[in-house]
Amino acid sequence: MPASKSSVEVLEKIKKLVGQDDYLDSYEDRLCYSYDSTIEEAIPDAICFPGTPEEIAQILKWANEYRLPVIPRGSGTGLSGGSVPVRGGLVMVLSRLNRILEVNEEDFYAVLEPGVITQTLSDEIARRGLMYPPDPSSMKSSTMGGNVAENAGGLRGLKYGVTKDYIMGLEVVTPTGDIVQTGTRTVKTATGYNLTQLFVGSEGTLGVITKITVKLIPAPEHKESVLAIFADMGQAAQTVADIIKAGVVPATMEFLDHTTINAVEDYMPTGLPRQAGAILLIETDGVREAAVKEIGRVEEICRKNQAMKVQKAKDEAEREAIWTARRSALSALARVRPTTILEDATVPRSRVPDMVRGVREIAEKYSIPIGNFGHAGDGNLHPTILTDERDREEFARVEKAIEEIFDLALRLGGTISGEHGIGSTKARFMEREVGPSGVAAMKRIKDALDPNGILNPGKMFVEGGGHL
Ligand SMILES: Cc1cc2nc3c(=O)[nH]c(=O)nc-3n(C[C@H](O)[C@H](O)[C@H](O)COP(=O)(O)OP(=O)(O)OC[C@H]3O[C@@H](n4cnc5c(N)ncnc54)[C@H](O)[C@@H]3O)c2cc1C
Repeated sequence: MPASKSSVEVLEKIKKLVGQDDYLDSYEDRLCYSYDSTIEEAIPDAICFPGTPEEIAQILKWANEYRLPVIPRGSGTGLSGGSVPVRGGLVMVLSRLNRILEVNEEDFYAVLEPGVITQTLSDEIARRGLMYPPDPSSMKSSTMGGNVAENAGGLRGLKYGVTKDYIMGLEVVTPTGDIVQTGTRTVKTATGYNLTQLFVGSEGTLGVITKITVKLIPAPEHKESVLAIFADMGQAAQTVADIIKAGVVPATMEFLDHTTINAVEDYMPTGLPRQAGAILLIETDGVREAAVKEIGRVEEICRKNQAMKVQKAKDEAEREAIWTARRSALSALARVRPTTILEDATVPRSRVPDMVRGVREIAEKYSIPIGNFGHAGDGNLHPTILTDERDREEFARVEKAIEEIFDLALRLGGTISGEHGIGSTKARFMEREVGPSGVAAMKRIKDALDPNGILNPGKMFVEGGGHL
């Protein structure tokens, strides 16, 4: 139940504003909005589904007056606790703002609302022969607002970049209830501070995104995919390095380790050899001749590095089958033990072999199964810890292992988060990467925009808080 008389009062006002049908406060409903895709959990006081930026602005003004925490939420697929209401308050779901407002085929941009599902945008754009490249594996359910707020990456990061590279402008409601327009629809702009990029990756702490202008590019004419199987992870890692050195930039270059291969085969058999140490899934795209030539070069390099098998997809069905293995990696690993913790430590590309080796050593040291897969081409690994959070002794070892994984990534010149953000789960580690003055500078920005700390409190800056 709401904690105080004043929160009852403000929640009543919000209920009246958005309407009974777009407001929830039963215990069962609050429970449904108490978690995201991590193991974080906290029950909100209520949930609302605003229909316009003006409603959002009004809610935020009241939230300041009554000091009510407000937590923006897309689809709740976040992997750092970003939309979990760790200080209670109001969960604001953006799903009603789900229109694609404009697709401009002359100037290559689209304007859309934050509740648009990433796959819906991608399909709509593809129908017009264009491409919106960021493709998080969760794109069938994640929202564009969530993608912008987390600066989501995806499988095509190596060649095409990530969400931040495609955001031209935003409409944002600030925590104090002002509606701000950022960016332009031009290729270039040099007007004032780059507020657009300040809000990208701000994890729902600096403003509620209500409109997004994305950059589009022409869709590639042709794609070629290859599955390469290696006895040893070291050979696969060397192959990745050699492909880049050869000047080939695949659209996608993903890897699965031995543990993940076996989890996928148990879950959804696709004929991957269980004894393999690693597989690489590589796709080239572009004009037909270039994509074909590049995949030929990739096959050559795989063979030179003793690949046990190099299998090129002959048609779209085979191409789809190859990518099914990668897309099912997390679901397959999640079946192995009751609790799955997926991390996104990222290192410079050349350090991928060191990172893979280091994660394996950490798994052995703490006797914890850790599957590893991810975006080999851009150094973004997903060490996936398979555990049972109810087993306190084992979980204490898991916490130590995760801390060592973060420290290893930093030692190798990397980052504790390549794409999932800090949220509540990694808050206590952020300072290790950006230093005390880095945290202080970010905190000053937060305080300037959100003087009463009402927007998504308890994220990024929690001292000593947050689970893994
Ligand atoms: C199976 C699986 C695979 C995944 N694969 C990838 C991947 O390949 N790459 C990747 O980067 N991530 C991946 N993720 C993580 C997740 O899907 C992304 O972080 C995604 O961007 C979250 O979108 P969402 O709509 O679910 O947002 P939520 O989880 O609802 O929210 C995420 C954060 O965004 C904020 N937010 C949401 N909407 C708004 C808004 N309109 N304005 C301001 N703040 C807002 C929230 O407050 C929160 O801090 C994966 C997750 C799962 C479960």
